[in-house]
Amino acid sequence: MKSGEPPRLETNCIFCKILRGEIPCFKVHEDDDILAFMDINPIAPGHVLVIPKHHSKDILVTPAEWVGKAFAGAGRIAQAVQKTLNPDGINVVQANGPGAKQSVFHLHVHVIPRTMDDGLTMNWDLVPGDMDAIGKLAERIAANVE
Ligand code: 5GP
Ligand code: ZN
Repeated sequence: MKSGEPPRLETNCIFCKILRGEIPCFKVHEDDDILAFMDINPIAPGHVLVIPKHHSKDILVTPAEWVGKAFAGAGRIAQAVQKTLNPDGINVVQANGPGAKQSVFHLHVHVIPRTMDDGLTMNWDLVPGDMDAIGKLAERIAANVE
């Protein structure tokens, strides 16, 4: 952490408690910026969480450098998961807000090994969209990129 907002932890956040060592975890990796640890409610064997060492609720309010550290960490952990389990695939998932089923409000990235027949329902069918509507939404979102 060399620039930008200094790291900050919260008293009552469960992931900040894990970062401070007040709650145990099965640690996978730790460096100056991130902690990776096993999810205790795994949706697949080898489900790992990667968190920045900075308390911030979600991707909308987290400084970009911490978002970058969290996703870079997820990339490293995905490599390790691939080497360890050789799964058929890996989902990297990150939830923001209740509508996205976020349940812990400290930014975190899920690294989830997948197998062809694991029955997880994160998949969606590829149904061609309305190109006109897609194009219009692209323009609206593009206008809000800051
Ligand atoms: P979310 O639903 O917010 O995307 O993901 C939160 C994740 O944190 C869940 O998958 C849940 O199992 C995990 N989790 C919640 N509390 C703990 C805990 O105390 N220790 C660990 N290792 N994982 C936790
Ligand atoms: Zn926190």
